[in-house]
Amino acid sequence: MSFASLGLSEPIVRAVTELGYTQPTPIQTQAIPVVLSGGDLLAGAQTGTGKTAGFTLPILQLLSTNPPLKTPIGARRTIRALMLAPTRELAAQIEESVTQYSRHLKLTSMTVFGGVNINPQIRHLQAGVDILVATPGRLLDHIGQRTVDLSGVEILVLDEADRMLDMGFIRDIRKILALLPRKRQNLLFSATFSDEIKTLADDLLNRPAMIEV
Ligand code: AMP
Repeated sequence: MSFASLGLSEPIVRAVTELGYTQPTPIQTQAIPVVLSGGDLLAGAQTGTGKTAGFTLPILQLLSTNPPLKTPIGARRTIRALMLAPTRELAAQIEESVTQYSRHLKLTSMTVFGGVNINPQIRHLQAGVDILVATPGRLLDHIGQRTVDLSGVEILVLDEADRMLDMGFIRDIRKILALLPRKRQNLLFSATFSDEIKTLADDLLNRPAMIEV
């Protein structure tokens, strides 16, 4: 199995090849076609399995080949993919991966997390980004200050959803979900599946494909 045979375009295959990836990992082989088809996904995967590329690569493909659903005002980009992560370390790591995988594409990304000055984040958001990686609390701060516009979000990723719930983010997540467009693609990644995760998955996902590695 190769990245190209999974349906990924040349600029994306080139980026991963340059990173030294020779073939997709099992989670990537399973997740990439599901995400490319536009379906929702419930994935059981630990870190270290290559799950970040499993959701990022097909998202990059979708965003780079389809025009935005919501026409941006002027030349400003609208956030089309929102990736939520429990910690700032994970958010930063995901954003770093997005940057690497998108190096031959004209897509932009940034991350917002707490514990740092909000003003540089506001300026960066005002410039417009396609992909936002965020921790829930800081994203809600931006929502409260109206410095982020989520009305163009087409794809949502909840990464390490079990950790987000363990850290008490369920109310924040539900507040964020209520602000997203109804018509969107949802991907949920979790290492474990408690009843609480199953309830969230039931509410969030529309007839998801289920994969476990
Ligand atoms: P993750 O599980 O997403 O945190 O990824 C774990 C590590 O595997 C990261 O350092 C990635 O750069 C690396 N990685 C992801 N996919 C592949 C692949 N197909 N081949 C080789 N390394 C990979």
